Amino acid sequence: MKKHNFSAGPCILPSTVMQKAAEAVIELDDIGLSLIEISHRSKEFVAIIEKARALALELLNLENKGYEALFLQGGASTQFLATAYNLLEKKAGYINTGTWSLKAIKEARLFGEVFEIASSQEANFTYIPKGYNIPKDLDYLHLTSNNTIFGTQFKAFPETDVPLVCDMSSDIFSRQLDFSKFDLIYAGAQKNMGPAGTTLVVVKKDILGKVSRQIPSMLNYETHIAKESMFNTPPVFAVYVSMLTLQWLKDLGGISAIEEINEKKANLIYSEIDLNPVFSGIAAKEDRSYMNATFNITDETLKETFDQMCLEAGVSGINGHRSVGGYRASMYNALSLESVGVLVDIMSELERKG
Ligand SMILES: *Cc1c(COP(=O)(O)O)cnc(C)c1O
Repeated sequence: MKKHNFSAGPCILPSTVMQKAAEAVIELDDIGLSLIEISHRSKEFVAIIEKARALALELLNLENKGYEALFLQGGASTQFLATAYNLLEKKAGYINTGTWSLKAIKEARLFGEVFEIASSQEANFTYIPKGYNIPKDLDYLHLTSNNTIFGTQFKAFPETDVPLVCDMSSDIFSRQLDFSKFDLIYAGAQKNMGPAGTTLVVVKKDILGKVSRQIPSMLNYETHIAKESMFNTPPVFAVYVSMLTLQWLKDLGGISAIEEINEKKANLIYSEIDLNPVFSGIAAKEDRSYMNATFNITDETLKETFDQMCLEAGVSGINGHRSVGGYRASMYNALSLESVGVLVDIMSELERKG
């Protein structure tokens, strides 16, 4: 039986995508060769990466607006330093909303002055800070739109003339935003787009080329733009599967269609968390993530029963991150409303038992 996969990442992908990806490993589109044994310069693969880049911009509504989409390697973790390498001349601002923000801050400090503009660390990152001032002389302001570990999500973004850099690893393509407000967006594929191994970077070209330092070729966005995301061998499998997932999303009706489903899933689980005395939410209500719902069990004596019921129903991957504890249900794009329903039914059954 296929399980209900609530994994925080790498995460569930659409079953049709999995099927096609598996077939392509054996043979890509009747060409007599596997996807992973052909040249990345072959016309077949060039068409795949071009399509992936085009779909990313199309879905984000950033076509013909001066942006480039790149599929790079090294994960979002490499982008923590690459963003600073390319953009930080004197000082940058960071909003500290959790583990991933802290890691980004640590890397940026190697390149210049870094100001923590706001933080929710004192409350173990259970909320998104609001009402802070943004100095006008920042090279950029960095945010993490969705905090995968703590289950918080920015619902509104700061209005500022300072360039915005955003780590959207765990909520890209999940909700409609005016993406043109951001100058650079990056996202590891494995949360909402594909398998681990590639990172999407969407960058507005005119913010580049302004720092005085030398940038190594592999970390220089201008290199990758000039070489159309093929400066070196791209991670062909991860790019292919990401392209399939983006095509799946487009066929579904794009971000607006998936946002509707994601809202239903989130409303279903959060209303259960709020109505069921056996559970309590961890994140501040107004900042709750639609991707990762974090919650505790209020009666520890029911924990074993709950875990057993989840196991029996095939509910997988809901243990909380070690720095938060409790539970975390990750509900990325490919997770069905039905799977959330299975979890919610267990939660309400547990209340009747308890
Ligand atoms: C998972 C995650 C990362 C780390 O991504 P890697 O690709 O493993 O480097 C960074 N930021 C956020 C918000 C994440 O969820």
